[in-house]
Amino acid sequence: MPKKKTGQRKKAEKQKARQKELRKGRANRSLAELPCNAIMECEKCQRRQKNRAFCYFCQSVQRLPMCAHCGKTKCMMKTGDCVIKHAGQYTTGMSMVGAICDFCEAWVCHGRKCLQSHACTCPLTDAVCAECERDVWSHGGRIFRCSFCQNFLCEDDQFEHQASCQVLEQESYKCLSCNRLGQYSCLRCKTCYCEDHVRRKGIKYDNKSKIPCPKCGFETQETKQLCMSSKYLFFYYYYY
Ligand SMILES: [Zn+2]
Ligand SMILES: [Zn+2]
Ligand SMILES: [Zn+2]
Ligand SMILES: [Zn+2]
Ligand SMILES: [Zn+2]
Ligand SMILES: [Zn+2]
Ligand SMILES: [Zn+2]
Ligand SMILES: [Zn+2]
Repeated sequence: MPKKKTGQRKKAEKQKARQKELRKGRANRSLAELPCNAIMECEKCQRRQKNRAFCYFCQSVQRLPMCAHCGKTKCMMKTGDCVIKHAGQYTTGMSMVGAICDFCEAWVCHGRKCLQSHACTCPLTDAVCAECERDVWSHGGRIFRCSFCQNFLCEDDQFEHQASCQVLEQESYKCLSCNRLGQYSCLRCKTCYCEDHVRRKGIKYDNKSKIPCPKCGFETQETKQLCMSSKYLFFYYYYY
């Protein structure tokens, strides 16, 4: 029988799991959790949209801004890096903001760290939808990333795109270089490669990580692990 977990051990395990989650998150932090991509409802017209300084629909400036970087709506000056000093006073609204980000169009608070780092690291830089090619300024909605090809998607296209992105065209199961069945697929280029052609000459591959696509460098998947049509499955059994 396993030993009963003590409170301390339970706590340590929980912490470990959390750290693992954090590490994973940093590499591929969900766009949905970012303050610059948070849901906002316009104070004036009540339409739902992505967090932004001015309403996408009625252009009215939002009186309760949320920082695009740290997500705060109220400055308590805890970190003490405010470029505007407000000793002992909490600030909200216009007295809390310092800038508008050019990329995500949301307010950035007057904290030095947020002001300095947000513009260079804004996660919505180049957030152009892979389907309709609209950028952050051209639609009001939130931004998503396709879980297969990792491209940016707008709210309108996210479901449809992902449904089709998961499946490769029948014809493209063949290796791009030799027409044999390709065991490795790149979901970004929508191409497959065989064992011989997925590896480029003169490059050392790490056995533990997935082989990058020879064309774009995106991680390849094993074709057989993808969601396949029945016709392909037949194909697959026939060849193996
Ligand atoms: Zn509005
Ligand atoms: Zn901030
Ligand atoms: Zn402050
Ligand atoms: Zn931004
Ligand atoms: Zn779109
Ligand atoms: Zn995709
Ligand atoms: Zn090949
Ligand atoms: Zn590729």
